[in-house]
Amino acid sequence: MWVSKLRYETVIGLEVHVELKTKAKLWCGCSTQFGTEPNTQVCPVCLGLPGGLPLLNKKAVEFALTTGLALNCVLADHCRFDRKHYFYPDLPKGYQITQFYQPIGREGWLEVEFADGPRRVRIKEIHLEEEAGRTYHLPSGPDGVASSLLDYNRSGIPLLEIVTAPELSSPAEARIFLEELKAVLECLEVSDAKMEEGSFRCDANLSVRRPGEKLGKRVELKNLNSFRAIEAGLVYEEKRQRELLAQGEPLPYEEVRTWDEEKGITVYMREKEQAADYRYFPEPEIPPFAIAGEWVETLRTNLPELPLEKRRRYREEYRLSATDAALLSRRKAEANFFEATLQKYQGSAQTVANWILGELTRLMKEEKAEVTNLQFSAEDFAALLQLQDQKVISSKIAKAVLEEMFRTGTKPAVIIEERGWQQITDPNIIKTLVRETVVANPAAVQDYLGGKQKAFAFFAGDVMRKSKGRVNPELLNEILQAELERHRSVGNSGYQSDRQ
Ligand code: ADP
Ligand code: ZN
Ligand code: MG
Repeated sequence: MWVSKLRYETVIGLEVHVELKTKAKLWCGCSTQFGTEPNTQVCPVCLGLPGGLPLLNKKAVEFALTTGLALNCVLADHCRFDRKHYFYPDLPKGYQITQFYQPIGREGWLEVEFADGPRRVRIKEIHLEEEAGRTYHLPSGPDGVASSLLDYNRSGIPLLEIVTAPELSSPAEARIFLEELKAVLECLEVSDAKMEEGSFRCDANLSVRRPGEKLGKRVELKNLNSFRAIEAGLVYEEKRQRELLAQGEPLPYEEVRTWDEEKGITVYMREKEQAADYRYFPEPEIPPFAIAGEWVETLRTNLPELPLEKRRRYREEYRLSATDAALLSRRKAEANFFEATLQKYQGSAQTVANWILGELTRLMKEEKAEVTNLQFSAEDFAALLQLQDQKVISSKIAKAVLEEMFRTGTKPAVIIEERGWQQITDPNIIKTLVRETVVANPAAVQDYLGGKQKAFAFFAGDVMRKSKGRVNPELLNEILQAELERHRSVGNSGYQSDRQ
C-alpha cells in the first residue's frame, strides 16, 4: 500500500557533554569558575606547555562514578585514559585525554516518562575526558583580516560524555530525555548542567528508515545551544531526511551538520570522521588504577532520591497531580522546601503544593529570588497555612501575610497581630456590618428579592471592602443570606427593624 511506504521511523541517539562541578580542573589545580576574565585560570598543564604533567582530580572520578550509578551503568573496575589526536588551536597539546578503550561506565539506562508512558532509554557508555579551550571568531576588520581569540580558562575542566543508544524516536522524545538527564545531574550535584553556560551540551544524531529496515545513515547535528534549538534542529533534519528518502535518495554518507539558528536550517559541515582518524592510544602519563569496590559501594549508598522516584512518590504518597508532582520535584531546593513544610503542617500536601507553585513562585519570579535564600523558614510557611486553615485569616489575607514574610522575614503571627489582620468570626460583629449595608441600600434589597444574584455579591463585596477583607467569607455568606431572606418573610416591603 502506498500509505505505509510513507511511514518512516526516526531514530535519534544523543551524545551529551557535561562539565563536572569540581572546584579544580581535571589535571591541575586551576579554578573551574565560570565567567571570569579570559586566560586568568591557566597554568603550564592546562596550557599544554612542554613538561606539564597531569595529576588526576579524584573528585572528577567520583562524580563520574556517581553519575554512572544513577544511570544504572556497569562500572569499570579500572580507570584508564587514552589520547585522541586532532589539531585545533583550542586544544594546545594536540590531543585530548579521554577514555576510549575503557569508558568508566557502560550499558546503563535512564527511565523516562514519555508522552506514551515510561520507558528505559539505554545508555551506551559514559566516559571522562577534558574540556578544550574556547575560541571566539571575530568578524574581519577594515583590512579584511578576520581573527580569532582563544580563552584557555575552560581547557582541562572535567567533562563527562554520556552516549545514548539510538532509541529515541522523535525530536520531542529527545527533548524530554535531555530534561530528565539534566534533572538527574542537578539532583546528584555533579554538574550545574546549564545549557546557557555550556556546562550541558548535546550533539544529536538522527537517521530515518522504513519500519523493519536496518538503521539508516545518520547525520550528527552540532551547535544546538538550547532545548528549543535541539528540538527545532531535529525537526528540520527529520523532515529533510524523510524527503530525501521519499525521493529515493537516502544519505550518501554520514555527515556532520550545524544548526543555523537564524535561518532555521541545518548546514553541511563535513563528512563524519572515523575512530581511526584520531590515532587513539593509551595515555602514558596517567597510569591505570583500580577503582575500589568499597568506594563505589559508599557512593551507591549515598545516592539521593532521583527525580523520577520523587515524582512518583509525590503522586502516590501525597496524591499530587502529575503536573504538580513534576513541577515540585524538578528542582531539588523546592522539593526540599515542600517536604520540610509538610513536616510541620497538619493540612493536605496539595495545599502546600498550591501555595508553593502559586503565590510563592509568583513572588520569587517577581523578585528574582530562589527558594534557598528566602527570608523565612519552611516552619514559618507551615504556620501561615495553619493560620489560614484555622480561619484566623482568610486566604486573601494569607497572601498579603506571605508577601510581608517574603519582604521582611517577620513571623506570620506577628504580622497578623501588628496589622490587626485576624479574621472577623464573631457573628454579632458580622451581623452589624451586614445590617449597615442592607439599611443603606434598600434598592439593592429589592433587586435581591426580585431574583438578582448580583445584588448579593454587591452586599458581600461592600462588607468585605469595609472590613478590609477580614470577615470570614463563609460566615458572611450565611449571615447575609439570612438577613436578606428575612426581608422576604416580612413582606417584601423594605427594611424592617429587628425584633427578636
Ligand atoms: P561515533 O562515536 O562514531 O559517533 P557512536 O556509535 O558512539 O558513534 O554513536 C554516537 C551516537 O550516535 C550515539 O548516541 C548513537 O546512539 C547515535 N547513532 C549511531 N548510529 C545512529 C543511527 N543510525 N541513527 C541515529 N543515531 C545513531
Ligand atoms: Zn591549569
Ligand atoms: Mg562517540
